[in-house]
Amino acid sequence: MRILVTGGAGFLGSHLIDRLMTAGHEVICLDNFYTGNKRNILQWLDNTNFELIRHDITEPIRLEVDQIYHLACPASPVHYQYNPVKTVKTNVMGTLNMLGLAKRVKARFFLASTSEVYGDPDVHPQSEEYRGNVNPIGLRACYDEGKRIAETLAFDYYRQNKVDIRVVRIFNTYGPRMLENDGRVVSNFIVQALQGKPLTVYGDGSQTRSFCYASDLIEGFIRLMNSDYVGPVNIGNPGEYTILQLAEAVRDMINPNAEIIHEPLPSDDPRRRRPDITKAKTLLDWEPTVPLAEGLKLTVEDFRKRMGDATI
Ligand code: NAD
Ligand code: UDP
Repeated sequence: MRILVTGGAGFLGSHLIDRLMTAGHEVICLDNFYTGNKRNILQWLDNTNFELIRHDITEPIRLEVDQIYHLACPASPVHYQYNPVKTVKTNVMGTLNMLGLAKRVKARFFLASTSEVYGDPDVHPQSEEYRGNVNPIGLRACYDEGKRIAETLAFDYYRQNKVDIRVVRIFNTYGPRMLENDGRVVSNFIVQALQGKPLTVYGDGSQTRSFCYASDLIEGFIRLMNSDYVGPVNIGNPGEYTILQLAEAVRDMINPNAEIIHEPLPSDDPRRRRPDITKAKTLLDWEPTVPLAEGLKLTVEDFRKRMGDATI
């Protein structure tokens, strides 16, 4: 098949491209390199089945493809809040353009949505039926409300134009290739510990997250895309940790003498988050296989290689 991956030079997009290329598909990677990096797809640049297009999805584009995995959107609060209006445009105009493309060429359309659509949840763990508790005027709204409207657009194109959609709600995912300056918690703690700097826990560290390893997530993507179920489906690892526990685990793995310090909690930071993955289990026969300790070890190895001599 000929498959378009938007945001393909980013963290998750590049792992997805590895899977699709290895399976023998033709892949077109579309990216504006805002948080993506050519290094992530370097290994495919000379392959005749691979094509790279530098393009901003807020502008329309005409291509002929069979499937679209739509991932383009900065995912780290640091990057999506840097230019919030652009984040909204990427989620609204960008998703609209990609759905328009899917409609024109009758391609199956996969939307990378997020657990952020649940906001600061009153229901725990979060199942797909929960409608969320999101602040429409807060600092995270450009991203979480942006993704909510992206889901709305996908379902309206499905009902109105019969576009064949799949919607996944991704819970916090980590792994090799996260940028050193990504700003999300796992990469921050790893980089800080490797540089001998204090680990910065925001607030008292009692807020929780559930961390899924990248390869597990990508397996879930492929299963959903090739199933008959439209979604939305939660894909994530139900293992739930406080941020302080995560800091301690990273510290103990890299540098037991590293200090843990506290910084102010950003506004609207969700108190807790854990996926109910009953749907993924029963409909896709999917569940995560990589435990946190193992995934962290693989991620730390990758950061050490990239950061070289600067590490402890
Ligand atoms: P990332 O920031 O590494 O990748 C995003 C990619 O999209 C980058 O390559 C970036 O350059 C590109 N991009 C951004 N805006 C663009 C635009 N206007 N036009 C073209 N390209 C653009 O993030 P990621 O972690 O790989 O996330 C990928 C997708 O998965 C995002 O849609 C994100 O919202 C979703 N997601 C990720 C997580 C996670 O934990 N990693 C959780 C929930 C949802
Ligand atoms: N966080 C932290 N220190 C950091 C970066 C993040 O304590 O250096 C916290 C953040 O406040 C949040 C959690 O870690 O409670 C996860 O943050 P991340 O940005 O990775 O993802 P999200 O908040 O979008 O789930």
